[in-house]
Amino acid sequence: MSKVFVLDTNKKPLAPTHPGNARRLLTEGKAAVYRRYPFTIILKREVSDVDKKPLRLKIDPGSKTTGIAIVNDDTGEIEFAAELQHRGQQIKSDLESRRAIRRGRRNRKTRYRQPRFDNRKRPEGWLPPSLMSRVYNITTWVRRLRNVCPIQAISMELVRFDTQAMQNPEISGTEYQQGELFGYEVREYLLEKFSRTCAYCGTTDVPLEIEHIIPKSREGSDCVSNLTIACRDCNLKKGVQTAEEFGYPQVQAQAKRPLKDTVAVNATRWKLYEQLQSTGLSVEVGTGGRTKFNRRQQNLPKTHWLDAACVGKSTPESLKVEGINPLKIIATGHGSRQMCRVDRFGFPRTKPKSVKRVKGFQTGDIVKAVVTKGKKIGTYIGRVAVRASGSFNIKTANRTIQGINHKYCRSLQQMDGYSYITGGAASSPRINSGVSAAKIL
Ligand SMILES: [Zn+2]
Repeated sequence: MSKVFVLDTNKKPLAPTHPGNARRLLTEGKAAVYRRYPFTIILKREVSDVDKKPLRLKIDPGSKTTGIAIVNDDTGEIEFAAELQHRGQQIKSDLESRRAIRRGRRNRKTRYRQPRFDNRKRPEGWLPPSLMSRVYNITTWVRRLRNVCPIQAISMELVRFDTQAMQNPEISGTEYQQGELFGYEVREYLLEKFSRTCAYCGTTDVPLEIEHIIPKSREGSDCVSNLTIACRDCNLKKGVQTAEEFGYPQVQAQAKRPLKDTVAVNATRWKLYEQLQSTGLSVEVGTGGRTKFNRRQQNLPKTHWLDAACVGKSTPESLKVEGINPLKIIATGHGSRQMCRVDRFGFPRTKPKSVKRVKGFQTGDIVKAVVTKGKKIGTYIGRVAVRASGSFNIKTANRTIQGINHKYCRSLQQMDGYSYITGGAASSPRINSGVSAAKIL
């Protein structure tokens, strides 16, 4: 069961509680709803003695979606899970269209002029805005979750495989040499090295097998320098021949070449690692091979949030995943800077943008509208899109209702740059109870 975050009256984060307990506190008037997403209640009293649970925030950063999980290291309980959807592609295309418009404008009636100042240098550690947005998305959520939950440590997946351990397996301990873990890391390593294609026929999108370049029957070793990946057909066809005899001497050469560390660590993850270290919490790093190994051991399906829960060596023996409903968080940004829409020639098409706030509401706020009159009688909870006329659109979990008057709306949570979906089979949507209301969106 996903838990509910609890704050004391001074906004000190307490250990997350069971939703049933939260509902009881709310109905008894001992607590109030503090935030809808993630669902947080605030107690009406001060709590001084806090039992420290070993809560660990685990992150599996992805290019489109990042998995987030808060795991109790002792019990293996998952207290909270989320999937954070990034907007890197949107940022990239926005910047590209802005660049195109500016370029077009400059080129209209100007000659080329040499740049006068050498002020186009990028600072050290610069990353493109589309990549930085991912880092910012994650650090924002680390900060937000730390505000509502007493997190003791962080784990993140930093690399896909451990290059160091791969090349010197003898220094990495027995678990590494003999255990299955090594197999997972080796597989990831080989897939990366041979670009996820069969080393012989170059086919992709088929199951690839680990293959010995010099076969084991002819005293080939299990070292990574003697391994490659091949499709089933090539593997059978090659049989007891070496790669050279099979007609592919270059495979041998490629396998001998060690893979550079930089290939394994991507820049975004490295940046994130640096930023997480500045939180002051201990940051554990794990490899993709380890994540996969942990997940397979516990027979868990591949999802972003479960991958996150399986990151790192600290992962408990058995994770309790039943009934967890991950919160889907979608990065939306904070509106657009464009002053008005343009047609395909770049000429203004609409009136200049009017004020951002209308009748106290802003596009992206989550509102509850109780319509008592007219055709649209009903209760709607969702993300609002404001119009200057005061007649709003509300996007609920399954549809968009147009033309709801602002007078019927009440703000539940202000726009914070993200929209939310509580996925899966949500339990009976009772709108009036605070806890189930959170599940509707
Ligand atoms: Zn093949």
